[in-house]
Amino acid sequence: MPRIVLVTGSGSGIGWAVVQLLAAAGDRVHGVDLRFPGETRAALEATGGMAWEADVGEFGAAARTVDGIVARDGRLDVLVACAGISRDRVLWEMTEEDWDRVLDVDLKGVFAYLRAAAPHFRRQSAGKVVAVSSTTALRGRPGLANYSAAKAGMLALVRVAARELGPANVNVNAVAPGFIETPLTAGIPDKVRQRLVSDTPLGRIGRPEDVAAVIRFLCSDDARHITGEVVRVDGGLLA
Ligand code: NAD
Repeated sequence: MPRIVLVTGSGSGIGWAVVQLLAAAGDRVHGVDLRFPGETRAALEATGGMAWEADVGEFGAAARTVDGIVARDGRLDVLVACAGISRDRVLWEMTEEDWDRVLDVDLKGVFAYLRAAAPHFRRQSAGKVVAVSSTTALRGRPGLANYSAAKAGMLALVRVAARELGPANVNVNAVAPGFIETPLTAGIPDKVRQRLVSDTPLGRIGRPEDVAAVIRFLCSDDARHITGEVVRVDGGLLA
C-alpha cells in the first residue's frame, strides 16, 4: 500500500523536488498549488495522486482538499507544507497588504492544512508533518519583517502541534532552509547573493533537492523519535 502524501506548493522549487523524491519512493502524492506548470500535474497523477488548485490561505479550501483526499484514498499519511511567498520591503515601507498576504500564505496556510489533517491523523493514530520554515525565522534579515514573523510563528505552531499530536503518534517537524536556488530567490540581487554565499561555510547555494532529502527523512520511519524539531538546511549559514 503506498503512503498517501499531500505536498502544498508542489508546483515549483522545493515542493516539486519533494514530489519527485517521494514519488520515486513509491508514495501516492497529492499536490496543492495555485497552478501546476509543465510536467508537474502529470507527475502527480502518475503516482495515483491529484493536482488540487487552491490558495493555501483559504481556510475552507484546505478542509475540502484534505477531506477530499481521505474520501478518495482512505487516509492521509504525510503532510508537507511547502507553499510560501515573500514580499520584501523594509518595515517602514511595508504595507498592510504585504503583511497580511505573507502571513495568510506562509503561516495561516500551514495552520489551515494542519487543522484539516489533524482529525484524520488522530483517528489513524499515525501521521507525519513537515513544515518549511526558514533561517530567517532564527536570525533577522532586513526587509523580511512579514516573512520572518510568519516563519517564526510557524515554528511555534510546529512545537505546539508536536505536543498536541504526539500522543496520537504523529510527528510534527520543520526544516529551515538557508539560501536555496528556486524561483523564489531568482530576484535576489547579485551583491546580496555573493554575500550570502561568502557567509555560508559550505560556500554554495543550496538546491531544492538538498531540502527535499531532509524532508523525506523527517517523513520516514527512521525519524520516528524526532518531533517538535527544526532542522536547518543552510550550508552552515547560521553556524
Ligand atoms: P517557489 O516559488 O519555487 O515555490 C513556492 C510554491 O508555492 C510555488 O509553486 C507557488 O505557486 C506556491 N504558492 C505560493 N503561494 C501559494 C498559495 N497562496 N497557495 C498555494 N500555493 C502557493 O519557492 P521555494 O523556494 O521552493 O519555496 C518553498 C518554501 O520554501 C516556501 O515556504 C519558502 O518560504 C521556503 N524557503 C525557501 C528558501 C529559498 O531560499 N528558496 C529559503 C527558506 C525557505
